[in-house]
Amino acid sequence: MLDQEMSIQEIEQWLRETDQTRISRLWNRADSVRRQAVGNEVHLRGLLEISNYCVRRCTYCGLNRNNSGLQRYRMTREEILACVDQIVDYGYGTVVMQAGEDYGIETEWLAGIIEQIKASTSLAVTLSLGERPLEDLKRWRQAGADRYLLRLETSDRALYRCIHPNLSDQPSDRIKILGQLKELGYETGSGVMIGIPGQTYQSLARDIDLFRRFDLDMVGVGPYIENPRVPLGAGQVCSPAIDPADQVPNTEELTYRVIALTRIVCPEANIPSTTALATINRDDGREKGLCRGANVVMPNVTPVDYRKQYEIYPGKACLHETAEACQSCLAARIASIGRSIGKGPGSRMHINHI
Ligand code: SAM
Repeated sequence: MLDQEMSIQEIEQWLRETDQTRISRLWNRADSVRRQAVGNEVHLRGLLEISNYCVRRCTYCGLNRNNSGLQRYRMTREEILACVDQIVDYGYGTVVMQAGEDYGIETEWLAGIIEQIKASTSLAVTLSLGERPLEDLKRWRQAGADRYLLRLETSDRALYRCIHPNLSDQPSDRIKILGQLKELGYETGSGVMIGIPGQTYQSLARDIDLFRRFDLDMVGVGPYIENPRVPLGAGQVCSPAIDPADQVPNTEELTYRVIALTRIVCPEANIPSTTALATINRDDGREKGLCRGANVVMPNVTPVDYRKQYEIYPGKACLHETAEACQSCLAARIASIGRSIGKGPGSRMHINHI
């Protein structure tokens, strides 16, 4: 079975599938669901990495507060608004403001910036700022923020606890926050990394089922990429031992499988072909993602000097390219696969059936 109702066991079988003919069927089915449900347009979201300060110690992530190898920065209001002008000039419909979990990003300060963007542009505003308190999420929604991205990373609770230590005073519960975001009326996005040491095929199949049960508006997935400057990448694996045959590899192929299966079970979702995918296949990783279920790309508009310091993992694609170079490169890549660039904010479309 290869449809929206497929069971967790069937999803797991597709993740483990080795028959190339059947795998081609998966790509074709995902591409056809994508075409019917969200069309041929590729929506571009201008990604602005507004701060690399972080209070967290996620063992996989270069922004980990214990990583002293990064020069920390926080963009000023003027710098952010200048980049927003660029996003408008390039014709992108959305600004995504992303950062480490940085409480130096004060609630009212950011609310003022969101209000200014909403008053002076027709951009959708997406935030991706970690596990902020409910009051902050409320205030930013009231200021006009449209969407919020918070990846679960994995729905396997034991693995999650290992890679995502709590802050001393508060347990981390991203599922609860995703519920709050939905209640506040945000378009809500989540996702996972693929191939985290200790991640099994079964838990990855459950992640995909959870995207469906949560009826997510956006799902972003990418391969886990080792960063030797932080504990997990340096080999400190703390997760419970698993049978090596059950370990999900952090490959390009598995990432496409997850994109394709996600498209099939969440037909309406906006799904990006991510930078992490472009990092492990610079030639045509993005295009392949777009041909196997994805319909969004997030060109980076962060000033190059800051971008280099937003090093969540080494060797990130497009690190040195100016926002302008990124724009023309992506336009050519999208045209090369016969797709067009979406106009407007590119919000989730609700369809009755496909
Ligand atoms: N602080 C926010 C948060 O935690 O949601 C947003 C910023 S965080 C750097 C953005 C995403 O980067 C994470 O959700 C994670 O999935 C991804 N990421 C971090 N380290 C990674 C790694 N080593 N390989 C692949 N993706 C990684």
